[in-house]
Amino acid sequence: MAQQPVFDHNEERAAEGFVDDVTGADEREKAHRERGTSRPITVVGNPVLHKECKDVTEFDDKLAQLIDDMFASQRTAEGVGLAANQIGVDLKVFVYDCLDDEGVRHVGAVCNPVLEDLPVERRVLDDSNEGCLSVPGAYAELARPDYAVVSGQDAEGNPIKVAGTGYFARCLQHETDHLYGYLYIDRLSKRDRKDALKQMAEREPRYPVVAND
Ligand SMILES: [Zn+2]
Repeated sequence: MAQQPVFDHNEERAAEGFVDDVTGADEREKAHRERGTSRPITVVGNPVLHKECKDVTEFDDKLAQLIDDMFASQRTAEGVGLAANQIGVDLKVFVYDCLDDEGVRHVGAVCNPVLEDLPVERRVLDDSNEGCLSVPGAYAELARPDYAVVSGQDAEGNPIKVAGTGYFARCLQHETDHLYGYLYIDRLSKRDRKDALKQMAEREPRYPVVAND
């Protein structure tokens, strides 16, 4: 009797163009944030959060520094994902440091992300709680697909694809939304949005934020 074929998850995913954002996650995240400078987080009402960001066209040292600063800021604010406009930069790039539904840590950065349309059979909605560093102190239930694929570019401009399950799928959708000018509260009912803003007003942020005028 033949052995079960060995399924190499990583190789198969690499062949499909998926980036390996799992190997060396701890070291990569640490290296980024140690090179970076933590910056204060913009909050709802700041115009930079409410419009589509510009495409990344220069994959240079300046972009690398921005990504390092984003990792440092994400760590300070104890976030699992951060979009550039959340530190006031009008560019389509987000970083993430997030666990998937199997507890595996994913660390990476995506420039010019585009969410792929899912086949209907993969569209299983998950209505877990969601929060956002730019709406500090607030949480609300929001139904989103429990699987997401984002295509874009890495910090050097190479095409990449990132796939996520569970909370990480939510993160990929949430961060891509940011770069097109949408906050998760924009996807809530009027009543839930109002409640989230009330929660925010009642709590002090646990990290530095940019005051709105
Ligand atoms: Zn957010």
